[in-house]
This record gives sequence, C-alpha cells and structure tokens, in this order.
Amino acid sequence: MASPADVQKLFLQAILSRRVVSVNLAKVLWKKCVDAVKVADDSLDIPWGPDKNAWDDFISRINESLNPIDLELASSTDEKTGRQMFALVNRNGDEVAQMATDYSPLEIAYFKALVEQIMLAPNYSYSISSMAALREVNSLKSNMTKTQAENVLASFVAKGWLLKPKKGRYSLSTRTLLELQPYIRQTYPDEKLECTVCMEIVTRGTRCYTSNCKIQLHGHCMTAYRKTHSKCPSCNTDWSKGSGAEKLLLVGENAAPKDDGRAGRGGRAQPRQATARKMSPARARLPRRTRRKTNLLSNLRRRRRDADRVNVANVSLGASSVSEDEEEKEEDAMEVDEEEAAPTAKAKGKRRR
Ligand SMILES: [Zn+2]
Ligand SMILES: [Zn+2]
Repeated sequence: MASPADVQKLFLQAILSRRVVSVNLAKVLWKKCVDAVKVADDSLDIPWGPDKNAWDDFISRINESLNPIDLELASSTDEKTGRQMFALVNRNGDEVAQMATDYSPLEIAYFKALVEQIMLAPNYSYSISSMAALREVNSLKSNMTKTQAENVLASFVAKGWLLKPKKGRYSLSTRTLLELQPYIRQTYPDEKLECTVCMEIVTRGTRCYTSNCKIQLHGHCMTAYRKTHSKCPSCNTDWSKGSGAEKLLLVGENAAPKDDGRAGRGGRAQPRQATARKMSPARARLPRRTRRKTNLLSNLRRRRRDADRVNVANVSLGASSVSEDEEEKEEDAMEVDEEEAAPTAKAKGKRRR
C-alpha cells in the first residue's frame, strides 16, 4: 500500500544516491517522487506545489521525521557556483562518522590529516598540493604505501569529499563543508573563516586588504553585496571598481604561495626564507599564526583521540569506483611533483610535530 510517507522515503533515497544535489534538482526529484507514488495510488492526497512555501514545508516535514535519528537534510551554498545545495547530514557530527561505511579507520585518519593541512594551509589558500597530500601519510600511526595513498586520495575525489582540478590542488568539497561542518567548526574554531554575509565557512572568496580587517566573503556573496554597497562593512575602505576592488585579497587555491608544495613542510629548513620572501604581505599577518600556535596543542590532543575512535555510520553512501583515468591523472601529477621535490623533503617528518 502506497502512502504519502513514501514520497519522503523515495526522495531521501534519491538524495543519498547522489550525495549532494542542487536545489533545482532536489525540486525535480521531489516532483518525480510525488508522481511515482500517485501512480501507485491515485486517490492519495499528497501535498505538492511549485512555490517556495510548499518546498519549505516538505523539507521541514522531512527534517521532523529525521530528527529522532539525528539526521538532517541541510543546505548550503556551493562556494564556486553560488548554487544552493542539499545533502543529508549527521547532526551529531563532531566526528567523521559519515565516512565509516566506505573507509577504514586508517583511511579516515588520513582524511582527517588532509583536512587539517587544508585548514592550516598558508596564506588562506585552504588547499594543498598533490605532493603535500601524499606526504601526509607520514603522519599516520600505521603504514600506508604510496600506491595505497594514491588510490585513497583518488577515491576521496571520486566520492566527492575532496576537490582536485586536473592541475590544481586538493581542497574541501561542498559535500565535506556540508556534511562535516560540525567537525570542521569544532576542530578548527580559529582557522576557519566565516563569510561576513552568509556566515558560512569560506574556503574560496575574497578578503579585505586592510591589515587586521577581518572581513571575508564568498565570491557570490561579494557579487550580491557589491550591488548595494561599495565599501568594506568593517573598515570602510573603498571596494568599488577602479579604486579598491583590484586590491582585494584572495581566499582559496589562488592564494597559495607560488612555490607551496615543492618546498612544502618537509623542506621547511631549507626554503623557509625563500618561501617567506615570495609570499604576499598578508602572509606576515601575525594574529592568525599566533592563534594557530595556541590552538595547536588542543588540536593535536583532539586529533590523537579522534584517530582511535570511529563511530558507526548512520548513513550508507552510494558506492563509487575510481576510474583508471583518474588514477592515471593522479600518478602524472605525482611524478611532476616528485621531480621538483628536494630529495630530503620526503624523509623529513611532519611540520608541526
Ligand atoms: Zn557567503
Ligand atoms: Zn575592511
């Protein structure tokens, strides 16, 4: 017997198999689920409507039913496209439990170490090179071979946990920012940046160039803000085109120091001065680094504790295999990086240990 509750069930299954969906796709899926249940029983009175209220009602009904099992259909804006995205999120998520069905404890520890490096990356770049990502296996308690690390990295990308453009760096995906938001906020309270407009985490966007001004915005939030304002909301400097707009600083991959990833953490003894010279003046901003140091100890403690504890997953995630193509791309990127790397770089240990 079909019932209106079947719409929710079908809809959640559709979301789960796609992991993260845009609001437009989510609305299409909702309509399809309604139609499918009506086909089974035409007499059912199933609420549906094209307007925003009907959609909001549907989402809040779903969240009411998910509430007892600590899940939520949460939404966030994609930092790159500015589109609203939905995903099923574990509300009790101060852990990376969502990954437990797909990954071993060692692989999850590796993922957390990568997230750490991305969150602590210099110059607000929130991204790391392929070489830095592979070097991170050195921080794990158990051994992971280079091939294993390459495979699991490719899998993190294939399953949407990390982003990695062909020639670019690893960064956090919308999925990770949505599903692991409580973990990121709790683990990196001082390293994460919040958008002044939408209050969500910023890993791509722009920053005000005034020293010590704490204003940063997503690209899409900046576009919206600029329509009605031309000055920084905090320090009042002129951001309008022709005067200050060109000076705005970047947040994200494009803010990475040019030689980051070649010298990297392992080679810090040798290229530190060179790195500092090439960095933008903002790199010298001290408060953030100072804060980072004071938080380091608590982060380290937390991380050690976390590494030994893996929760039972609440959500089963759709399987996804890594294509040979993607593995090859990873290998290509690796080879280039390794040629560029100083031979001593690999042997050395973790930056902050
Ligand atoms: Zn924003
Ligand atoms: Zn400012």
